[in-house]
Amino acid sequence: MNRRLFFNRLLIGVGAASIVKEKAYANKKKNNSVVKNPISICTWDFKEANFQAGMALETGKDALSSAIIGANVEEENPKNSTVGYGGAPDREGTVTLDAAVMDYKGNCGSVLGVEKIINVSSLAKDVMEKTPHVILSGKGAQNFALNNGYKLNSLLTDDSKKKWMEWKKKSVYNPKTNVDNHDTIGILCLDKKGNIGGVCSTSGLAYKMEGRIGDSPIIGSGLYIDNNVGGAVATGMGEEIIKIVGSFLVVELMRNGKTPKQACEEAILRIYRKNKSPKFQVAFLALDKQGNSGSSCLQEGFSYYRYKNNINKNLKVKPIIN
Ligand code: ASP
Repeated sequence: MNRRLFFNRLLIGVGAASIVKEKAYANKKKNNSVVKNPISICTWDFKEANFQAGMALETGKDALSSAIIGANVEEENPKNSTVGYGGAPDREGTVTLDAAVMDYKGNCGSVLGVEKIINVSSLAKDVMEKTPHVILSGKGAQNFALNNGYKLNSLLTDDSKKKWMEWKKKSVYNPKTNVDNHDTIGILCLDKKGNIGGVCSTSGLAYKMEGRIGDSPIIGSGLYIDNNVGGAVATGMGEEIIKIVGSFLVVELMRNGKTPKQACEEAILRIYRKNKSPKFQVAFLALDKQGNSGSSCLQEGFSYYRYKNNINKNLKVKPIIN
């Protein structure tokens, strides 16, 4: 046998072995996955958003539609300064929104740096369903929204303008922890059919540089779902999450046998090991195919909501740094 033929046969052998492994994994998970009750989990203290997502699941809505119903609650909430309407602007005073969605088939859509459109998670779903693309940004995303019936709205509220003008006096950009500038909404839902869908929606870091995009709309960083395994969402310092492709990493760790909590912890530890004494916050939240949820965060202060069996509960997460 010549050298090339030998290597080709070797490669075919390796490929076939991993396909067999993948199929065995999927079958094993399928047999185990009896979902009696739908579940919704959501970053931070977005009680109402998670409840609405849970209610939608109870009525039989699919996972992604339910997650979007939840995300819309915070996108429309003027009091939330890190998502949608009322979100903090960039340093020039312009509010720009980012969002991503992913469904159980592995389809995804995202929008980056969108101005004057409130429901960017719905828009990301429209990108996924109505275009041949995955990502639309800026003006193009806004034009696509207008062509699909969305209305233009100013996203800057009197309150967020006041805070921005106050910030401008010193213009010191110093993102610390989650005290007042990290609160992205990430929702993962498991529907009655046992399928997972999710959303990540944000206005990004407060007073970010013009044009800055964080992890939230980047598939694999702010959000990732593999319906054979589970899903993950992220919040916190987007630059650090992007550097480890955080949500994808969490899902792959679960594929390799870690629980949702262990997988999130490992991802947080990777960030921790790269940063001597991090002053920022990062948190991951994960849900597996069997309905187990878990989370880990770098700093004190992160919690998440879990809706299950008509109970919408806030769960505090123990930080890696004490
Ligand atoms: N992860 C978001 C970003 O970096 C911020 C956040 O979670 O609040 O844009």
